Amino acid sequence: MLIAYGVGILGVLGLSSIPLYRAYRMHRAASEPIEDGVCVACQSRDCTLLAPAVYRCNKCGFEAGSGMPAYRKALALAQIDAMDPKARFESALADLRESRLALLGAQGLLDNAGVMSAMDIVDLENLDRGSAKQSVVVAAAREMQRAGNCIEQASAKLRQQLTEGPVKAELGSLEMLLDSSLFGDSLATDLLAHARIDALKAETQRVRAQVEHAVRRLEARA
Ligand SMILES: [Zn+2]
Repeated sequence: MLIAYGVGILGVLGLSSIPLYRAYRMHRAASEPIEDGVCVACQSRDCTLLAPAVYRCNKCGFEAGSGMPAYRKALALAQIDAMDPKARFESALADLRESRLALLGAQGLLDNAGVMSAMDIVDLENLDRGSAKQSVVVAAAREMQRAGNCIEQASAKLRQQLTEGPVKAELGSLEMLLDSSLFGDSLATDLLAHARIDALKAETQRVRAQVEHAVRRLEARA
């Protein structure tokens, strides 16, 4: 009886532990740092080193490695260096105008969000379709980040910092805030959401004023 019971337990454990073990292995693999020199796409070791900690897989052509961000940045800088001064200036001005458009877009989205409740901002109706992250505030933050990237590009091209500091529009904490509003449509959640919207608005206005100034200065030079 006792033995049968033991075997039964083992049987149950044995069956249920296979997916558990697999999940454990996948979790470990996902949390391990990228191993340089092994293709993450096809696991081939036939890789060519392109730069420190950057490789290209000779089997599938995938490029990756822990040094990728630094490598991309160096490539972009080399591209900028290869431009003649006039092209570089015009490209920078185009980047700045693009950032101005993105900031205007963000401002419009934030103005809309300003009159919505936190629940509406999260867009509960579409939540079960997984589109909550397209909520109006997150879209605004994305536009702000796009503006920030354009400003960074323009600054690199002109070799001068065109605005003070990076554009502050952290998406992570924003998504968490919007998620937390699912736990109740309380006044506190609305206040918190609108405090966050006001902060994003103020940041948009701060950066836009500086971008407008820089655009006018560059246009006068063009
Ligand atoms: Zn590969």
